[in-house]
Amino acid sequence: QVPLKPGRSLMDWIRLTKSGKDLTGLKGRLIEVTEDELSKHNKKEDCWICIRGFVYNVTPYMEYHPGGEDELMKAAGADGTDLFDQVHRWVNYESMLKECLVGRMAVKPVAALKGLFTCSHKILGLVNNWNEVYFLKCSPNFVSFLPCVSGIFWHVTESYDWFQTDSLITVVIYTKQKDMNADLVIVDCQDKQLRGEIIMDDHSYLVNIDLDHAVSEDVAVNIAEKVGKVEIILNKKDNVHWKMLGQPCEGHNTFIKRTDRGLFYRKCKLVSKTEVTHDTKLFCLMLPKGTHLRVPTGQHVYLKHIIAGTEVVKPYTPVLPFLPLDFQEPPCHDGVHIYLMIKIYSHGLFTQALDHLQIGDYISVSNPEGSFKKSQVQTSEDLLLLAGGTGFTPMVKLLNFALTEVSCLRTVKLIFFNKTENDILWRNQLEQLALKDERFEVQFILSQPSKDWVGKQGKISSSLLSEFVKRSRRDSKVLICICGPVPFTEQGVQYLKDLGYSQEEIHAFTA
Ligand code: FAD
Ligand code: NAD
Repeated sequence: QVPLKPGRSLMDWIRLTKSGKDLTGLKGRLIEVTEDELSKHNKKEDCWICIRGFVYNVTPYMEYHPGGEDELMKAAGADGTDLFDQVHRWVNYESMLKECLVGRMAVKPVAALKGLFTCSHKILGLVNNWNEVYFLKCSPNFVSFLPCVSGIFWHVTESYDWFQTDSLITVVIYTKQKDMNADLVIVDCQDKQLRGEIIMDDHSYLVNIDLDHAVSEDVAVNIAEKVGKVEIILNKKDNVHWKMLGQPCEGHNTFIKRTDRGLFYRKCKLVSKTEVTHDTKLFCLMLPKGTHLRVPTGQHVYLKHIIAGTEVVKPYTPVLPFLPLDFQEPPCHDGVHIYLMIKIYSHGLFTQALDHLQIGDYISVSNPEGSFKKSQVQTSEDLLLLAGGTGFTPMVKLLNFALTEVSCLRTVKLIFFNKTENDILWRNQLEQLALKDERFEVQFILSQPSKDWVGKQGKISSSLLSEFVKRSRRDSKVLICICGPVPFTEQGVQYLKDLGYSQEEIHAFTA
């Protein structure tokens, strides 16, 4: 992030896009852009970028880009898809840059094929000499060309099947993954549309079907963990015999890298909004009936909302409704509600819109994302959590998981940095937890304390960390998790490295 000039916020950009000004310089015409043409627009004052086959004139956007002009210029006059995916795949550029759309990249004719390769018995991939790959997909009743961006290679190592009774349809997916669990299966069934995504490390397998007949909203998911079999059970609305499951939709029966799959959203209802501190609220969202989704510990979701006619997306990390003190599997894992602890900024674009949502309103919630793996904790003896402000949110599920499910942990310590006492999230609950469980300790450090504060003060520093971040034994295995404002996280990681902690012992939560 770089500081933007006044008048260059996201809201200012949205206003400019709505002003009717010609932002492409083409007076609304859409053109086909050749590689040669694209490469000519490579200067700050004339900059075109290609993302997923679409070309945008980003010259007017330069000063509004939160990552700075230099970052955008890295893709000037070229294909910026990879760069974009690395930095902010979740940003909905289609909506943000729609007024900057110049047109599509010209695709060289398929006759100019450079190579031909086979992905599996079912799918043939045809590569042309430019940036696009076509797949010829053959099955008894379905033959078509599916265009997709280069670099995506489909392996159909997984497969699915289906069977029916008078009242049920069961879709069975054989993942062959031994540690399959409910966190890895995301199902959405609405109207006649069934979408089931199975996460397998950094890949995902998708079943996406327009069902032949209507089903009710109740969906059950059964998992045979040891053999990796997943069953999605649907209830027929009418007890008719189905001749087929339905028609395949985009991405059906594909196994591709998760980063190559677009984010999927479903609309969730706001059911409650409660105060946590003077500026932070706990939002409770309800998943639709036909959705099976659990957000794993350490992962976040994206919320999408239309603000002034533009889709805006921001990441948030689900928490629990409270910190359970009895170390049982919390009853709040009901699979229906998602709790988000969100700080409302007085000038915040998205959080102001969230704050204005009424109970019963809907907001789009994405599938979970994030690189944290529970196994990182499962082998640790000491867990140290460094949180700044709402950087506390990933620590909530992590704390609960560590104290309820990780028996080898000897100590769990939260070092919580805030501006003032009034900003401390769930202080009471944290203090109670520390009283209840002797493995857990909490330390509050304030950067703008009042005169009455007798506790620690300051910002993250080498000396504060050397005082509080310690192994309980000389050779104990430690995991240090850090989350907060970007400079806090970056400085913290550097200080930890300076103190001798290795990369493997540190996990930084980022987008
Ligand atoms: P903006 O309009 O972007 O700005 C609001 C105010 O904050 C302005 O005053 C601006 O100057 C300032 N500001 C802008 N960007 C930053 C920044 N990066 N750091 C500090 N100040 C900034 N927030 C939560 O409250 N709860 C969460 O659970 C949560 N989870 C997150 C998970 C991830 C992976 C990431 C990357 C962020 C998370 N955030 C969370 C932050 C959230 O995504 C938004 O950035 C935040 O809600 C502000 O959005 P906004 O549009 O209201 O603010
Ligand atoms: P804040 O401004 O209230 O600051 C909280 C504390 O962080 C401060 O008291 C200070 O100790 C420290 N801090 C703040 N700015 C610092 C700086 N420049 N250098 C060193 N230390 C600094 O924090 P907030 O408004 O609650 O913001 C929380 C941040 O955490 C946001 O930027 C949000 O995006 C981020 N966040 C990230 C994730 C994630 O998973 N990546 C999750 C939740 C929140």
